Amino acid sequence: AAQEGFDAEEVQSELAAAGHGPLPVLAVVGRPNVGKSTLVNRIIGRREAVVEDRPGVTRDRVTYEAEWAGRRFKVVDTGGWEQDVLGIDASVAAQAEYAIEAADAVVFVVDATVGATDTDEAVVKLLRRAGKPVVLCANKVDGPSGEADAAMLWSLGLGEPMPVSALHGRGTGDMLDEVLKALPEAPAQTFGAAVGGPRRIALIGRPNVGKSSLLNKVAGEERVVVNELAGTTRDPVDELIELGGTTWKFVDTAGIRKRVHLQEGADYYASLRTAAAVEKAEVAVILIDASESISVQDQRIITMAVEAGRAMVIAYNKWDTLDEERRYYLEREIETELGQIAWAPRVNVSARTGRHMEKLVPAIETALAGWETRVPTGRLNAFLGELVAAHPHPIRGGKQPRILFGTQAGTKPPRFVLFASGFLEAGYRRFVERRLREEFGFEGTPIHISVRVRE
Ligand code: GDP
Ligand code: GDP
Repeated sequence: AAQEGFDAEEVQSELAAAGHGPLPVLAVVGRPNVGKSTLVNRIIGRREAVVEDRPGVTRDRVTYEAEWAGRRFKVVDTGGWEQDVLGIDASVAAQAEYAIEAADAVVFVVDATVGATDTDEAVVKLLRRAGKPVVLCANKVDGPSGEADAAMLWSLGLGEPMPVSALHGRGTGDMLDEVLKALPEAPAQTFGAAVGGPRRIALIGRPNVGKSSLLNKVAGEERVVVNELAGTTRDPVDELIELGGTTWKFVDTAGIRKRVHLQEGADYYASLRTAAAVEKAEVAVILIDASESISVQDQRIITMAVEAGRAMVIAYNKWDTLDEERRYYLEREIETELGQIAWAPRVNVSARTGRHMEKLVPAIETALAGWETRVPTGRLNAFLGELVAAHPHPIRGGKQPRILFGTQAGTKPPRFVLFASGFLEAGYRRFVERRLREEFGFEGTPIHISVRVRE
């Protein structure tokens, strides 16, 4: 049916934009100081460079959204890597492995003014083994005189070096055109669900919350199948574990077991592992140490999973250690700190005693069901019609914006497009989201609502 103020084409293109599946992932890897962060800033169009001179600056965010020539993708920034954690070669290799594992294509940055070093050669080996498409970025080619330096990098055997100045922007457009050719339309790693493979779970949480203990508990006692699936690179390993009669794929379990992240100063490594695992998973089980105050780091990990649009379960671990007083304060903290994810199913577990392990699978199933829920357009509009009649948007400047109609453009997570006659205030949008959840469930899943306003 024709909707007032919108033509069919406009509606279609809006739905296509909102209904996009998960975005393909681009990793930017290379030695320290070759200009990775500068390049990432350029790609994502950040105005001011956030290149930090301070060594060892911890950054939690490693994945950003970018767009070039109308195509959207994610960029994994490995620039915050601390080179001294494992020794330079090992750390660059480990960083690259993680990033490559999570990526659909890779930009390998080399400093053309320095030329290819042994460390660069080591990364080339990893890239070969991973078999992902690679765009070779010959950086710091600030002017035509640097082109010859760039040409020297043919010797790496990765095809044509793209001469770029990340700092000034020279050549980045041509490089991004190559990136788009290398990137698939949709991430390869997500068709597991579509073809009915095991559901993918990321077990995440800050260091020492009990991830490896929990994994050992579930894999050790209830394991029927444990398969080490060799990934495309050596380290990150997915494990098949049978729980409650179903086989699940716990992604990137090697990163949990290896414990490298416990070394001092390796917070960034932990963030990178979390981001990689979340990208590969359908559902995130976020472990929180219930014996300690909910921390900023817990919040950031939750934000990562929400922003990635994953189904989510919160598991409060170490429940065996809680006394009555701590339980009281924990509930207050959950109310005040985690109110924004009150929709996530919650389990109170102990990886040590095995308490409530049997509740984990039902919670995961609930979250996945919410994540895949689709509301028929007819039902949605009946609901919206009633909602708008009962709770109209406040009048602003003599006008009253109205939701005209809506539709669900996608699932995993549910994405809605609302067409409105005027700008909807944030408070009203939140109200609509709350009511949508009350009406249709969506337990355990973020939901995304975009509003298209008639001009
Ligand atoms: P990362 O460690 O690989 O993330 O490298 P950064 O992005 O932090 O850059 C390291 C240094 O190289 C910084 O001082 C940058 O300003 C500089 N740099 C980055 N890209 C370029 C470039 O294209 N040309 C020049 N001349 N300097 C650059
Ligand atoms: P990870 O860094 O998240 O993998 O955490 P670990 O599994 O290594 O656990 C960190 C510490 O917490 C270890 O000393 C564990 O024995 C302990 N731990 C893990 N789960 C529990 C639990 O449920 N109860 C208690 N009391 N301790 C736990």
